[in-house]
This record gives sequence, C-alpha cells and structure tokens, in this order.
Amino acid sequence: MIDHTLAGGDSLVLMPTGGGKSLCYQIPSMLRDGVGIVVSPLIALMRDQVTALQQNGVRAAYINSSLESHEVGEIFRQVRMGELDLLYVAPERLLMDHFLELLSTLEIALFAVDEAHCVSQWGHDFRPHYLGLSILSQRFPNIPRIALTATADEPTRNEILERLNLKSANMFVAGFDRPNIRYHVLPKDSPKQQLLKFINSEHEGESGIVYCLSRRRVEETADWLVEKGWNALPYHAGMDKGTRQEHQDRFLREEGVVIVATIAFGMGIDKPDVRFVAHLDLPKNLESYYQETGRAGRDGLPSNAFLTFGMDDIAMLNSFIDKSSAEERVKQVERRKLAAIISFCEIASCRRQALMHYFGDQHPEPTCGNCDNCLSKVETWDGLETAQKALSCVYRTGQRFGVIYIIDVLLGVVNERIINFGHKNLSTFGIGKEHSRGVWRSVFRQLTGAGYLEVDYEGHGGLRLTERSRDVLRGEVEIAFRKDAKQISVFGSKAKNKIKSRTTSRKRKSQAVSGSNNPLWDALRSMRLELANKQGIPAYMIFSDKTMDSLVDLKPRNLDDLGDVYGIGANKQKKYGKAILKVLAGK
Ligand code: ZN
Repeated sequence: MIDHTLAGGDSLVLMPTGGGKSLCYQIPSMLRDGVGIVVSPLIALMRDQVTALQQNGVRAAYINSSLESHEVGEIFRQVRMGELDLLYVAPERLLMDHFLELLSTLEIALFAVDEAHCVSQWGHDFRPHYLGLSILSQRFPNIPRIALTATADEPTRNEILERLNLKSANMFVAGFDRPNIRYHVLPKDSPKQQLLKFINSEHEGESGIVYCLSRRRVEETADWLVEKGWNALPYHAGMDKGTRQEHQDRFLREEGVVIVATIAFGMGIDKPDVRFVAHLDLPKNLESYYQETGRAGRDGLPSNAFLTFGMDDIAMLNSFIDKSSAEERVKQVERRKLAAIISFCEIASCRRQALMHYFGDQHPEPTCGNCDNCLSKVETWDGLETAQKALSCVYRTGQRFGVIYIIDVLLGVVNERIINFGHKNLSTFGIGKEHSRGVWRSVFRQLTGAGYLEVDYEGHGGLRLTERSRDVLRGEVEIAFRKDAKQISVFGSKAKNKIKSRTTSRKRKSQAVSGSNNPLWDALRSMRLELANKQGIPAYMIFSDKTMDSLVDLKPRNLDDLGDVYGIGANKQKKYGKAILKVLAGK
C-alpha cells in the first residue's frame, strides 16, 4: 500500500482498528516531498496522533478550533517553510477558500481522508462536509489520495469510492479479524450484576469502557460501579463540556479507569490498553458493535468484548427505527442491520466467523477458539432436517418472500396470499408444524446469521439462497441450532483458564496487583507515569505495555541493546534511554 502511494496512486484502505491504518499515510508523508494533509473528523484524534508522532520525532501538527489564532499562524508559517511532514485538519477547515488557496501554493505529499465512512449518508457517522472532499480530485489531480476506514460493508465502500471520486483507486483490504478480542454475548438478566461478576473476575484494576443506551443508565451504572470499588466515570452528551473533557482525560492518562458512556464516547480514542469493552444494551447494528468493541486491545494483548441483550432492547431499537423521520428505504436498511446484530447474538456457532462474514471477510477455521461459543458448549439441537425444510421452502416459493410468509407456508397457514400465489399445493406447505412460530423465527435468524440465507434488501426484503445453501440441501454439513437463549450459562470455567494461560497474562496480572509479582515492571511503570505527567501526556505515549513486556524480557544493558526493544525508535532511545537503563540496572 505504501509503495502504491509512493508511486503516486490513489487508494482505499480498509483495516480494522489497531491494524496500523495511520501508518499507511504517515510513512508515505514522511518519504514523499512536501507535507501530507490528513483530514480527520475529530479534535481528540488529531491531538493524540500528533502527540504520538512528535514523541517519535516526526514533524507533525494539527489545525482545529481548539487553537488560538496566533497558534494557527505559527503552523501556517511552519507549513510554508516546509517544516512539517504531516498536517491534520478537520474537513470544515480544509474546505475553506483561504485554506484551499494556501494548499495550492504548497508542495503536497498526499491527501489522506481518515474515517472515510463519514461520507456515507446512510451511515451512523455521517458528516456533511465529507461530501465536499471530492473537490480535492479536481483541484489537485496529481496528488495521491488515500481514503481510510475501519468499518465499511460493500455498499459503503462503493459510496466512498464514488463520493470521493476514487474510482481508479486501488483497494487494500486487511482482514477484519481482531484475534486478541474475545467475544462474549449473554442474555440480559441483571446486566449490572453480570458486568460486575465479569470484570471482577477478569479485569481487576484495568481500564475499560461500558456502553449504555441512555444517559440515566450511564449515571446509574457509573455510581454503582464506584460503590463496588471501581474507579468509574460517567460520560454523555448531557454533561457539561468541561466535566466531560476532564473524564475523558482521566481515562486516557490514569490507569485503571472505567468510563461508562453513551455511544457519544470513543471515536478517535487512541488508548491502546483498554482491556474490555462492555455493552449493557444492544448496539443498533454490527458496524457500531465492531467499531466500539474494536477500542479494546489495540496493543494486541488479550482483551474482552462483553454484551448483554434482551427482548426489550430489540423492541426499543425497533421503535426507534419506526419513529424516526427517515425515508422508508433508510429504515429498511436500519431494520436489516438490526436483524443482523440480533442473529449475531443468537447464533450457536463461532461469533468471530459470523462477524467477519458480515464484513465480507472469511475466518479460515470454522471455530476461532476465542469466543464464548467456541469456548463453552452451547446447548444446541441437531437442525439439519429443519434447515433443509426452511431452505427448500424459500426455494419453492421463488426466493422472493419475507420470513413471515415463509413461516406461514411451513406451518400450513391458509390465508389469502398463500391461496393467491398457489402455495397451498407446494410440497413444503405445512411441513414444519413440529415447531412453533418462535422456533422458526429463531431458525431463520440463525440461518441468515450463518450465511445459509440472505435477505434481498434491494427488492422487498425477500429471503434467498446463497452459495452455501447447497451444502445444507445436500446434507453435507452439520447444523446445530441454539436453544432458547435464556438457558445459556454465563461463561464456562474453561474460558477463564485459557485467557490466563496466554503468555502475556502473567505480566498483565502484575499490573493489576501492583508490586506483588514483578517489581521491575512496577518500577518501569512508575517511571513511565512520572515522565508522562511531566509532559502532560498519557503514559502509553511514552511507551506501551508491550514495550514494558519487551524491556522486562530482554533487560537491555546499554543504549544499543535498547534498539532491539519493541516500540523504541531512535527518538525515544535518545529521550528516555538513560532513564530506562537506570531503572533496569536497579539504580
Ligand atoms: Zn469463535
């Protein structure tokens, strides 16, 4: 991807959070002549990225509304003098006439449009100014452009290519898998208790994010966690700006803070050591779920995604869609997306596989070994024959009817439509009477979730067969349907053992129980905190947990050896090398 940009080509980059997306424009910006212009929708994201780049000795700056006018003037001066390799701006700023004028006088290395899915009017992060960015292709036809996103299904990809005028761009798609995140989904019983039990057993003293649907629930949950001894802070749009900012800063800078938030929190949060993301209410689609859970474990160390869902969530989200003022076709898309996340919750098979399938990616194995369904036995029933009945009924009725109609046919319901379409005489009419309507609904959700059926949303939402359906009809696969979700146990004890046996957990543990396990780790950690506080930046920007692991393992003795340590480049070696060596030598 970097070679392609260096050669002057345009690109669309799809990469999961934590996959190294920003390197795709940072490195070419440094290598090509001129300054790389990065369009970013969020002030917090710009600030974090620029601070992290500066820590590594890269000449980077941002311009946004948080700066005073003399500060902006200084950055303009730097950029005119060729003193910057990267400049981050918001789309609103970029599109101002005087800014475009300035750009036309500069040597520009590339344009990067981060969070490019914001261009999608159907998406949940739509930003109207993104639509104006197509102007870049007209004003600067010879400068390479890169659009980047962590979430984009096929229609969104096409929208990005079209609206940003990137039709000749190369597409670079990295796998959507986040192997270090373990997925847990459980039926909602008493969600706060379920959460507490989970984090007490897996995440003592660690950082995490808890999402709730309403402000009231955010407040309640945060208070309750504080009562239970957790360092928890609320965050939602109803709080005053100062307090919200303070809570976000504490989450970034202190260790072991749990933030309880509505979905307003998190976009652009670059904290690498978030160890868990919990949803106490069902997110409205898998895009949000994937994006929000993706904030866990950006450093690659084992992390958890935890979700409780109940029938009332489904009803509430459905009524949000019904009551919204959106056009009917937009509502259709939203309903489809809601159905997809419900089936993700209900499946009995590997969740990772289902999630990746949804994003058009494939997990190479049928089981991942790192989600609740793979780790503990889900109560299932052998459903091959039922699946065959379902699929052949879809086929016999012409692959154009929705689930309610198909179930009517299976149950042998005699109504006007069935008579009119002549489906009373089908071989599949009434062959499914052994199951209730509820069981059939769950069967269809699970078949769709597993990719054996798909819904035609461009038509009228009819079900149709897929490539994989043939395997079922020929009886070449085993089909296990999940039993009534209420019967699922919380988590198997196996699951816990496995996460503890992973190589890094020993060191993570020593973080939680300060001083009891590894004094060297603790000494490094307090030095890191001290350095961070002096500069007013988050500790992980000095160096990451992964770097601390590497320091403890390798115990470098001199500055040269430090070069072998993960995450320590020339700049950090120079800046912090002596301090690190002193701690390692026990002085
Ligand atoms: Zn799995």
